[in-house]
Amino acid sequence: MNDTNQGLSTRCVHAGEIKDAHGSPHTPVYTTTTFKFDSTADLLDVVEGRKAGSLYTRYGLNPTLFSLEEKLAALEGAEAAWAFSSGMAAEASLFFAHGRKGVICIGDAYGGTMELLSSQMPELGIPTHFLLGSELDGLKTFLEAGAGLIFFETPTNPTLEVLDIRKISAIAHQYGALVAVDNTFASPVNQSPLALGADFVVHSATKYLGGHSDITAGALMGSKELLAPVWNWRKNLGQMPAPETASLLARSLRTLVVRVERQNATAKAVAEAMSHHPKVARVLYPGLPDFPGHAVAKSQMQGFGGMLTIEVKGAYEDAVRAVDKLKLFAIAPSLGGVESLVTMPVTTTHHGLAPEERARRGISDTMIRLSIGLEDAADLIADLNQALGSFPNKT
Ligand code: PLP
Repeated sequence: MNDTNQGLSTRCVHAGEIKDAHGSPHTPVYTTTTFKFDSTADLLDVVEGRKAGSLYTRYGLNPTLFSLEEKLAALEGAEAAWAFSSGMAAEASLFFAHGRKGVICIGDAYGGTMELLSSQMPELGIPTHFLLGSELDGLKTFLEAGAGLIFFETPTNPTLEVLDIRKISAIAHQYGALVAVDNTFASPVNQSPLALGADFVVHSATKYLGGHSDITAGALMGSKELLAPVWNWRKNLGQMPAPETASLLARSLRTLVVRVERQNATAKAVAEAMSHHPKVARVLYPGLPDFPGHAVAKSQMQGFGGMLTIEVKGAYEDAVRAVDKLKLFAIAPSLGGVESLVTMPVTTTHHGLAPEERARRGISDTMIRLSIGLEDAADLIADLNQALGSFPNKT
């Protein structure tokens, strides 16, 4: 059942669920690699595409995957979705299927994406180009040179820069190029890139979609026509999630809206508290009215997300001391789970970049990135206050 007139919470619970012979309220896990047929003619009907059906799990032809993909598509208001074994798997198949004439990456992106685009794709002869969010005038040159795919995250990691999905999609389409938005940070609860003009949405489902830091998975959403060329890449690179993982992801999606709405509210409370803290120089959060990307965020997001970055007043050592003093926030390089996590971009996601390049991207040594979980806001704020008390005031 996938009714796009229904609200998002209803779709999270009901979209894609199949009715089995025993009355299970949820799609069962088909823990099998292959499926039996009554006759060779029946098998050929599926192999030759005359009949939709299950065949072989690595192909994605397994009812647990079909069910998950219908739910994933429904969440982004997409015609179709493919599930993947990781966010990177989804990106790689997308780039191979649609980016061979050139990929333009705008703004900051996840380190693995940057490595794939900046060193591995060029090794295969695929041109890739990089622009900061403030350099959109440069898009024209690369699009005129034939680049066929624009890829970006919004909000970005770790500065929470907000890129204008409508504007970038309109420019791309003038040149016949396609646009893929990594919607991992926002989640489908807060942002619907396809409705804003993008052609694809990519997710590291390892983050908010999975939501419990216990599964690695990815997703790609778009039209049936544009997803069709991705099929063979996923199949032959063997990028399918296992049925058990697919089932766990579907389980998590049923609670996506309640989790993310709570994370939005708690992140806003933490951002507001930190913006008044004497040891905090800056709070980067799209929901704060004085944040540079706030106006665009308001025009394209329904909520501002559970991710924020604070910059402490002091030196790198002060920021490290504060991070090490945190008790509820765990030091870990992921995001989007029920437990709050903390990282310093300079020690994790952007560790490999030269200091000058970090500075060009607006990433400082005193930035602390917070992924807000489902704990009480007051407890998280108290934890941050005690940790920030661990170094002397530099004002
Ligand atoms: N996109 C974003 C925004 C991410 O943060 C990550 C991972 O951290 C990825 C993509 C890659 O996802 P995965 O780790 O599931 O391959």
